[in-house]
Amino acid sequence: MTSSYSICLLPGDGIGTEVIDCGCRVLDALTAQGGPQFIYDIQPAGYDTFLDVGHSLPSATLEAAKAADAVLLGAMDVAQIPPHGGDPLGGLRIGLEVSASIRPSATIPGIKSPAADIDCVIVREVTEGLYSRDEYMGDDDAAYAIRVITREASTKAARMAFEEARMREKRSGKPGLVTAVHKVGVLKLSDGLFLEACADVARDYPDIAYETRNVDACAMDMVREPGAFDVILATNVFGDILSDVAAGMAAGLGLAASACIGDRWAYFEPVHGTAPDIAGQGVANPCATVLTAGMMLRYLGEGSSADAVEAAVYAVLAEGQVRTGDLGGTATSAQMTDAILAMLNA
Ligand code: ATP
Repeated sequence: MTSSYSICLLPGDGIGTEVIDCGCRVLDALTAQGGPQFIYDIQPAGYDTFLDVGHSLPSATLEAAKAADAVLLGAMDVAQIPPHGGDPLGGLRIGLEVSASIRPSATIPGIKSPAADIDCVIVREVTEGLYSRDEYMGDDDAAYAIRVITREASTKAARMAFEEARMREKRSGKPGLVTAVHKVGVLKLSDGLFLEACADVARDYPDIAYETRNVDACAMDMVREPGAFDVILATNVFGDILSDVAAGMAAGLGLAASACIGDRWAYFEPVHGTAPDIAGQGVANPCATVLTAGMMLRYLGEGSSADAVEAAVYAVLAEGQVRTGDLGGTATSAQMTDAILAMLNA
């Protein structure tokens, strides 16, 4: 029997509104082939939504996200939203109770990248750390940001990292390794607690190797020895920065996908932002969103559809005939999507 899924779409701002259509075209092509069916519920969120209704994550949007089987997000211009306009990504993470994001980065055949052999996943805690938005002015000349680390959130992220390492080990046959990233020499209490939680979880996974690295050393090692990493486990800000390093070392932001998964809900988003410099031109690379849709399919239990989507994207990239500007080509988002669809239907 064909499965049917409700997907809450949050196009957001900038190129988010463009690439999400490309993702849906690929999902619809699977349906046309007799694969799973998708019922879309398009909901407002982001900076433009704040301008329209005064809040960047209306409560009806969050309710719709909770009611769906999965949420697919475009991109949101968080930087322009003033504090009273809310935090759409933070609100989604808290509302959907997702604790960590998973961001894979690997070299892709046919795509030039600084690292020949990077193949890692960053598991990043996404609800607290220095992005907990707890800031205040001490006086006119001193601003404070509170870095919150809890045992509970760290443990959840760590568990996700070790599960991911196990899954990757099963798939690739290569021994799993989790690298926890910290700056405990300076952040003795907060990163001390984070590392304590990680080590506790590591004891439950004796089959997976475990190591710790200072964040600054880790950034350098990722550039000098990218093949040395498997699963990198990090707090919010360190994970944010390192996942851009990994994306840059691999195939670039236009190809980087991510998933935010909790016990009950999950949302999926390309790693890139709203790219204001190319927004509205129809030239954004849709591959990150299509690969993100692939991660969503895997989460929904549609592994063979996910495999087909990923294979189609990689085949188009390997062929190299159709490429968007970020990959050195001249194709529009629509042309790139057409090429993926043609490969999917081949
Ligand atoms: P934001 O503040 O929303 O994160 P940004 O421009 O600071 O926006 P990104 O949107 O991630 O950050 O973009 C960084 C750079 O990468 C920009 O030059 C942008 O054009 C490019 N870029 C990002 N995503 C894509 C994409 N899908 N296709 C092509 N280029 C992209």
